Amino acid sequence: MTAYHELFADRFARLRIGSAGIRTPARRPVINPATGAAFASVPLAAPEHLESAVAAARAAFPAWRALPWEERQARLEGLAGRMAQARGELADLLTLEQGKPRHSAAAAEVDYAIGWLREVAGRRLADEVLEDAPQHRVEKSYVPLGVAGLIVPWNFPLCLAAWKFAPALITGNTVILKPSPYTPLTALRLAELAEDVLPPGVFTVLTGDDELGQWMVDHPGIAKISFTGSVATGRRVMAGAAAGLKRVTLELGGNDPAIVLPDADLDACIPKLFWGAFGNSGQWCVGIKRLYVHDDIYPQLLDGLVAYARGVRMGDGMDPASQLGPLQNARQYEKVLGILADCAERGLRIALGGGAALGPGYFVPVTIVDNPPDDSRVVAEEAFGPVLPVLRYRDFDDVVRRANDTEYGLGASIWGRDTALAEALADRLEAGTVWINEVYVHGVDFPFGGHKLSGLGVEHGAEGLAAYANLKIRMTAR
Ligand code: NAD
Repeated sequence: MTAYHELFADRFARLRIGSAGIRTPARRPVINPATGAAFASVPLAAPEHLESAVAAARAAFPAWRALPWEERQARLEGLAGRMAQARGELADLLTLEQGKPRHSAAAAEVDYAIGWLREVAGRRLADEVLEDAPQHRVEKSYVPLGVAGLIVPWNFPLCLAAWKFAPALITGNTVILKPSPYTPLTALRLAELAEDVLPPGVFTVLTGDDELGQWMVDHPGIAKISFTGSVATGRRVMAGAAAGLKRVTLELGGNDPAIVLPDADLDACIPKLFWGAFGNSGQWCVGIKRLYVHDDIYPQLLDGLVAYARGVRMGDGMDPASQLGPLQNARQYEKVLGILADCAERGLRIALGGGAALGPGYFVPVTIVDNPPDDSRVVAEEAFGPVLPVLRYRDFDDVVRRANDTEYGLGASIWGRDTALAEALADRLEAGTVWINEVYVHGVDFPFGGHKLSGLGVEHGAEGLAAYANLKIRMTAR
């Protein structure tokens, strides 16, 4: 760790605000979750830094919005190109700060973010003529909002940032991105890369504590908050935004059910179910968090899943052999251990894992719980860790009721050969996205958002782009 510490000691010393590089009096350590040790530190923004950032973003807005779409696209493609050149470094930083395996998940997230940015840069919000009559012409257009405040969590720091800054920037807004206090490094590196290709003030990254997020929500100079994180914080964001009637998009938590039908092709779906539940060590908003399996195939599926899981290696993400990394932070680690302790106290049957954590970092073993009761914590709560309850069902109406019996409504999936049955069940599930025989597939053109407590508004698609604009109607009498 010493080597990393030396490498990063003064690496991210400044906030870049406008054209200035600013050293803050206070800094915050960055912990490598594979070791639990600090290896870097980053600036801790204070209210005056937010003031400067908002001023810079507002100053940059008129010229940025006035650029033709093609020019903004070219700049964003330039940023994607710079990211591609820094691909290896970004993946290293991502693994060190987040924990995910460097050569698989981290590299894939970097490439995904680059690809996403390139794709979104090519999208447009098209103006429309709504009426063109001899006496009257009515036109609809989209105008950017101003400064967008983008607040993201720690599970996919680059991907979730790209989901926000790409549409915000291409539609003509300037942005202030606040990464999670736990994963600030990739965002700070992005800010450096952006400096080469975007005008000062267009893309600012501020690192700070949670309170920085609240200051952004409360700041009258920020026109919109796009937030991804927990329901509890989402509520605070919405309450804070009410004062200024600030636009908000909220992408919040989930407790996604997966339903396996009796005719499912188990060999084909077991690996997908495993990675759907345990990918990113379960820290996935649309990960499978409750797996409902029909009685007829329950024993085979459970055994198959356990056997598959035994072959997956968890370890330090910098080790090329690691397929799963640690939990990202101590708070999450304690939460997941609390759920495991509850399983033990209730005497639930553990088909795999449980037991002691794998230390010294925030490692929790892959854990599969065999048919726990619906009211146990492992079923009712979003664990956000590598802990999966597998639940028996016999009746389709009953499994739909149980799948919907949650305040969340982010995603859901159905697995089976009978597509007509799967589609009929999908229509009855309360979720923003229902996948059939796949899970967590996203696309630039597919709106994504949660029902119920899982969110408000959507990202992606035309609707996601439009969420960074005000609609404007122009009517002309002739
Ligand atoms: P969190 O709500 O604690 O933090 C998210 C972000 O909000 C961080 O940057 C944090 O600093 C900031 N923040 C904290 N308090 C704030 C406040 N009062 N005002 C404004 N910002 C504030 O969430 P987390 O623990 O970082 O992330 C895990 C959660 O995110 C899980 O519930 C997960 O399901 C959810 N998530 C949802 C999606 C989605 O797209 N729906 C994607 C990923 C994660």
